[in-house]
Amino acid sequence: MKGLVDKDTCIGCGLCPTICPDIFRMDDDGLAIAEDIEIADDILAEAKEAEESCPTAAITIDNM
Ligand code: SF4
Repeated sequence: MKGLVDKDTCIGCGLCPTICPDIFRMDDDGLAIAEDIEIADDILAEAKEAEESCPTAAITIDNM
């Protein structure tokens, strides 16, 4: 599983790095970006919480 942020939809609220900082961070453009790495099992719940909590549904957690 990997995370993906749709930058056209992200509003830069900063929530996802707070919930799951191992996968999400704020990029230089002020929008979120997901690390291009396999999400470890022990942080998968955090990553999914970030996906569900995003106010604009910009995050996808999926097999990629
Ligand atoms: S929670 Fe959603 S809107 Fe907020 S920074 Fe993350 S991807 Fe962007």
